[in-house]
Amino acid sequence: MRDAQLQEILKQTFGHSDFRFDQREIINSILDGKDTLAIMPTGGGKSVCYQVPALFSDGITLVVSPLISLMHDQVINLQENGVEAVYLNSSQSAQAKRLAEEKIVNKEVKLVYVSPEGLLSGYLGNFLKGLNVSLIAIDEAHCVSQWGHEFRKDYTRLGELKDIFPEVPILALTATADSRTRSDIAYQLRMNSPEIFVSSFDRPNIKYNICERKNELLQLDRFIKEHHAKDTGIVYCLSRKKVERIAKELADLGHKTVAYHAGLSPEEREREQEAFNKEEKIIVVATIAFGMGIDRPDVRFVAHLDLPKSIESYYQETGRAGRDGKPSTAWMIYGLQDVIKLTQMLETTDANESYKKVARHKLDSMLSLCETGQCRRKTLLSYFEEESQDCQNCDSCLNPGETFDGMIDAQKVLSVIFKTGQIFGAGYIVDVLRKSKNAKILDRGHDKLSVFGIGAEKSKNHWNVVLRQLLNLNYIYIKNWEYRSLGLTAKSAELLKGQVPFIMRETKENLIVAKRSAKTIEANHDRLDLFNQLRELRRELAEEKKVPPYVIFGDKSLHDMCQLLPRNTDEFLLVNGVGESKCTNYGEAFLKTIHQYSQTSSQNIL
Ligand code: ADP
Ligand code: ZN
Repeated sequence: MRDAQLQEILKQTFGHSDFRFDQREIINSILDGKDTLAIMPTGGGKSVCYQVPALFSDGITLVVSPLISLMHDQVINLQENGVEAVYLNSSQSAQAKRLAEEKIVNKEVKLVYVSPEGLLSGYLGNFLKGLNVSLIAIDEAHCVSQWGHEFRKDYTRLGELKDIFPEVPILALTATADSRTRSDIAYQLRMNSPEIFVSSFDRPNIKYNICERKNELLQLDRFIKEHHAKDTGIVYCLSRKKVERIAKELADLGHKTVAYHAGLSPEEREREQEAFNKEEKIIVVATIAFGMGIDRPDVRFVAHLDLPKSIESYYQETGRAGRDGKPSTAWMIYGLQDVIKLTQMLETTDANESYKKVARHKLDSMLSLCETGQCRRKTLLSYFEEESQDCQNCDSCLNPGETFDGMIDAQKVLSVIFKTGQIFGAGYIVDVLRKSKNAKILDRGHDKLSVFGIGAEKSKNHWNVVLRQLLNLNYIYIKNWEYRSLGLTAKSAELLKGQVPFIMRETKENLIVAKRSAKTIEANHDRLDLFNQLRELRRELAEEKKVPPYVIFGDKSLHDMCQLLPRNTDEFLLVNGVGESKCTNYGEAFLKTIHQYSQTSSQNIL
């Protein structure tokens, strides 16, 4: 019964015919009054998890969201779908605030977006206390945790929401959280034995490609021209200076670019973000300050010219590609310089030692993703504790020639760890492998072991790579964070017995962009003419309404229209992303264009 009603809301209001991932289960859990933690990859559809129950419930749904631009986009999107929503934050004029509050008091809105700062204190806190709140959703919930990668002070007081609204269930949502961050979120938000849902992190439409830096500008230019000449994309750099330089150099090479970083004024930032949202075929070169507010679903590539500091960041940033589910590329180049720069940044912050340890570990994992000879996707997913098969679509899968069998080396490392008692860190293990006669080894008599010096012919760096990869694939683990001592895992026996392969990547010559796979070539749509016409119509409507084109319809909806060729509003409602409000507002215009197209193309056939 409830299920049918929820499904109805999803279809009527949002135009989706079915829930995906764990959306249904998450919504049911929250409607049963349980605190709920939902981990869903970027682009997975987290908003539906609180927007649908918001429409189903009597009271108001409070949505805590960290970024003002994000709130703004969400509210516009909801209004486009015929749902009344408002936001309250520090950027508003007194008048806009009053207007929003009036709507809330008159029960004209179902969703209220608020920023975390000031939420709990002063006037706003008191105002909210008096409302009939049925659900609290906390978006980007990993910001509450020091273990996460985007800790925000504003989030730390959100636990107090439980004092104000002890009976109201909390839904915490995030795209990236390892198990430690997960439990920390639950703890910080004082959730009562939360139901936890972890959706798959797999983004099968994204092709991962990581290579060594030679000449970054030429590599990037070539990558874009060969694979994404007509597309919109994001290029991430570490520093402002580099952002400006690359934006200019790319423009000189004939690309349409905008630059975006935290050094711009708020007006400039807004202008650049808007340009990115509205234009076709545009490349934004940006620091990671550009990101959280991006809702554009048709970003076809995300390129990294500098290494992100963790796999969480990499995953989140690359996740901005292909939210519409169409083939997209995550492309990155890296070099030794990145490692030095990032390590330096990390070591020179005033953060405490335990934070630094976590950060070091995260950086190491990021490096192993670069160095692995295994499928990138598989490695990425295994970091999020998800098992998977080789994807046959990343550079490792497509260029297996650049790898070699590392089994014997891996076994050597495991033997040394085992024989020395599983109490030492990587440095010591490498010393034993390489026959180093340092005092510590001699004191302990480890020079007498049969494994002493079994890896003497290879470099320190080589053994570090083997160790990182073993760590990354869970053949070994860090037993003690303080001493970074390494231990064997339940999986290591398989490798010692040679029952599983251990493939390594040749790090010197892995530069060239992976071969183009038939799979990833932009999906051919037979009705390209129609698609272009619909896109033009969308652009006109967007201009008229002063909203970004994708707010009208995503590419996916346009493709769907080309496939279905709907003849009337009933059929139009079958199109992915078309709910009643959009059908009423735009149905006629789109149906007309489709009708004209069908007429002329059937004449052509005759
Ligand atoms: P997230 O916040 O998880 O990054 P969003 O909530 O912005 O993702 O949703 C990403 C995209 O997925 C949006 O374009 C949304 O319309 C679409 N979407 C969400 N749920 C569904 C669904 N059940 N079926 C199809 N598309 C969906
Ligand atoms: Zn792969």
